[in-house]
Amino acid sequence: MDVDLVIVGAGAAGIGAAKAARRLDLDHVVVEASHRIGGRAYTEHPAPGIWFDLGCHWLHSASRNPLTRLLVPYGMDVQKTWHWRSGIFRNKRWLDGKKAREFEIKALDAAAELAGQGEDIAVCDAYDRDSEWAPLMDYWISLNHSTDSDQVSIRDMCAYEATGENQDWPVKQGLGTLIARFGADVPVLLNAAVTRIDYSGGVILVHTKGGDIRASRVLLTVSTGVLNAGDVKFTPALPAWKQDAINDLPLGNHNRICLVFDRDVFGVYRRDTATFFDDDDPPMNFCISPFGSNCAVAVTGGRFADWLERAGQQASIDYARERLVKMFGSEAGRHIENATVSAWRGDPWIRGAYSATRPGAYGARHMLAEPVDEKIYFAGEATSENFMDTAHGAYISGVRETLRVANTISSNDRNPVHPEAMARELASC
Ligand SMILES: Cc1cc2nc3c(=O)[nH]c(=O)nc-3n(C[C@H](O)[C@H](O)[C@H](O)COP(=O)(O)OP(=O)(O)OC[C@H]3O[C@@H](n4cnc5c(N)ncnc54)[C@H](O)[C@@H]3O)c2cc1C
Repeated sequence: MDVDLVIVGAGAAGIGAAKAARRLDLDHVVVEASHRIGGRAYTEHPAPGIWFDLGCHWLHSASRNPLTRLLVPYGMDVQKTWHWRSGIFRNKRWLDGKKAREFEIKALDAAAELAGQGEDIAVCDAYDRDSEWAPLMDYWISLNHSTDSDQVSIRDMCAYEATGENQDWPVKQGLGTLIARFGADVPVLLNAAVTRIDYSGGVILVHTKGGDIRASRVLLTVSTGVLNAGDVKFTPALPAWKQDAINDLPLGNHNRICLVFDRDVFGVYRRDTATFFDDDDPPMNFCISPFGSNCAVAVTGGRFADWLERAGQQASIDYARERLVKMFGSEAGRHIENATVSAWRGDPWIRGAYSATRPGAYGARHMLAEPVDEKIYFAGEATSENFMDTAHGAYISGVRETLRVANTISSNDRNPVHPEAMARELASC
């Protein structure tokens, strides 16, 4: 097969790239290693009325997120006001979270100031390590970046363009469902893992488990976990500056544990979230009865997520159940009907959750996005400099790189379209 462009991976970035390639009339093919599209966007349906996202769940930065345009046409529901840090259970007492919130605001302001001065230290060094709230702040960082706060660059964290309060919307039927529906019209070669890319000659040879493809350009959207592991070999090897960028953007881990109950076990507790946080245990946050359902979703991040994932599914369920019982009593433990647990580190096509720039390596995302020899292009969440770690950041990055490819192929007809504008337009059809 001969094409202009091979798109490797059919996650949010690959889907965005394919939609843009079709719009730009680029002869292209999408190859995907797994048996399904979506990558880190994947929803299961454990019980009637309950959808569980093993990966992305929230439409972040909603007012700028192009994927929000899909909600109405696809009949999806979101919750637009979400008091998501309410209810902290600390040393056997419920707190309203005000003090923790004050500490968090102070910590984020301090981080923004340091980042503004060009400091690229680890995030953990931006706040008072002796504060009783520091472990809770560390926990939020480990969820936001899937990496512990001592391993996240402060400038990287502060480069994210949040759009304000109530701009993170959970999707009832699953963000994974939304992305799978959006990508349903994209032709994809499934079970066709790319094993080697030979770009030593004029034509690029892409070796896949489904056969070989000849192309003039390749767009890789696989995670930095996959790139770091060397699952795709390159001839010649990628240049040192590219390997450094990949190495400076390792994937952390973040897992989600869904417990489904056979009845309402939360009774009068009517807050959206509950965070278990005492002196002897790492914090664990639960979404309680999302969209009124009889379920709870616990989340883990960073080294702790790796540790619990290694301990296994049952250990993860038991751990979450134990904390729920401590907060809500034994009823919460007795009525678990079924449970689903993600395990992103162990997924061979992802190898973790999402990327964090190492302290001191700010700029790695920009370098990761740079093409090699105008032949090999890179998209995916790790290449987004303002919406990293998100589904919409990945989606926009796929559009961005396809525009770049199109411009190199027809250099007389440079396309002035802004990637975000095109991403919005493609999501409006
Ligand atoms: C637990 C968790 C929670 C998250 N929560 C949110 C959230 O609430 N909101 C949000 O916006 N984002 C969230 N994210 C992040 C978001 O899911 C990702 O940033 C986004 O989905 C990444 O898309 P991508 O296209 O860059 O990569 P991927 O989704 O990883 O897509 C890459 C694709 O490449 C394929 N592939 C791998 N190797 C090969 C190969 N050799 N050949 C061919 N194909 C290959 C993979 O199978 C995969 O389908 C979360 C992620 C996780 C894990």
